[in-house]
Amino acid sequence: MKSLSEESQQTVRMRHIFTVDVEDWYHGIADEQIRASAERRLHYGLDILLELLAEYNAKGTFFWLGPAAAEHPNLVRQVAEAGHELGCHGWFHELIYTMSPQRFRDETKRARDVIADLTGKPVTAYRAPYFSITSKSLWALEILADLGFRYDSSIFPIRNWRYGIPDFYPQPQQINTSSGSIYEMPVSVRRMFNQNIPVSGGAYFRLYPYRLTYSNFRALERQGDHVVFYIHPWELDLNHPPVPLNWKERITHYVNRLSTESKLRQLLQDFSFASLGDVLEDEVLVKDGLSMNNAQTTMS
Ligand SMILES: [Zn+2]
Repeated sequence: MKSLSEESQQTVRMRHIFTVDVEDWYHGIADEQIRASAERRLHYGLDILLELLAEYNAKGTFFWLGPAAAEHPNLVRQVAEAGHELGCHGWFHELIYTMSPQRFRDETKRARDVIADLTGKPVTAYRAPYFSITSKSLWALEILADLGFRYDSSIFPIRNWRYGIPDFYPQPQQINTSSGSIYEMPVSVRRMFNQNIPVSGGAYFRLYPYRLTYSNFRALERQGDHVVFYIHPWELDLNHPPVPLNWKERITHYVNRLSTESKLRQLLQDFSFASLGDVLEDEVLVKDGLSMNNAQTTMS
């Protein structure tokens, strides 16, 4: 029987989208006192991630949380210099549907400006904390378009206790707002048993045996879909301290961390990855004549 990697070498490698939500291990914890006194450990997981991506010649989009970028300017530059795309993950790691539109605008702009100032390049990709653009906070897309974001990847077409729009069309799409259009790249799901199953990252990636992730990726490839995969640096940092969390948060945070690095290595070996911007501009929007790279594509 062929190994998974031998099999993948015989097929044409489709590019999937690798995304990283760049926050430290404590940013998702509600208790402000824990956050303020927490040990800064971002570089442990981020170093492993950058080395793995370099080893497999993969590129990705790194959505930075504002304070993580502000505290680690050298890491921001290091990621940019390695050829990855930099995106924005907001300022406080809080649910957008609990914020006022004005607060969302101010904090998103603040985070975007910190990231852009560190590299001198515009930041055009956004992902919400906890994928929290839901039916209650679709207004956020208009603000993102107004702030100059070209892509969003915050909508998860599943039902989850904290996020999701279960009936959202799970394909890349242009959304027109009164401040202009923005391209939504929903987080990937697989249609099974009459519902959308999450297939692509975070706790789901840690929970599933690798073979299941592999078959989910192949199933989406057969449909011609680019998988949007996501991970956090702290998922690769085995030594981040234990924190008080409710049982749902504990599962999200700690399940199967020991096997994450080896599963990720296997995934990078079996599949090819690029940034959100590159896959959308080069392969998705170009079909509809909407790509910013259109001119180059036509000429070459
Ligand atoms: Zn996050």
